[in-house]
Amino acid sequence: MTAPDCLFCKISAGEIPADLIYEDDQMIAIRDINPAAPVHFLIIPKAHITSILDVGPEQKEMLGSIQLLASCLARQEGIAEQGFRLVNNCGKWGGQSVFHLHYHVLGGKPMGWPPE
Ligand code: AMP
Ligand code: ZN
Repeated sequence: MTAPDCLFCKISAGEIPADLIYEDDQMIAIRDINPAAPVHFLIIPKAHITSILDVGPEQKEMLGSIQLLASCLARQEGIAEQGFRLVNNCGKWGGQSVFHLHYHVLGGKPMGWPPE
């Protein structure tokens, strides 16, 4: 369930320090080291899944838990009222740079659409 040399596996295991804002048996949330918005954190399942393309039907509940956690932590971080963005980057053209499934939660400023 972990991959050697995977940054987010190592952070999930506590082997590399991070600014943790949430942890349970399935998931962690950490502040992004290079924030793209005043509030920017990542929701990361502890199990090593390379991307959303590798999520199977048996992991449906985990995907639901991520979305529920996103709204819960958005409230906790004070970005729920003004609104925020929940993003998954998948693959090269999607802008994924860490190949362990994670969702970005960004808020604290108005954001444009489309992204580029
Ligand atoms: P993505 O480009 O969608 O794969 O997102 C990876 C995110 O991880 C980027 O926003 C990085 O800034 C962030 N990141 C990389 N290394 C760390 C780290 N050690 N702690 C927290 N966030 C990180
Ligand atoms: Zn991993």
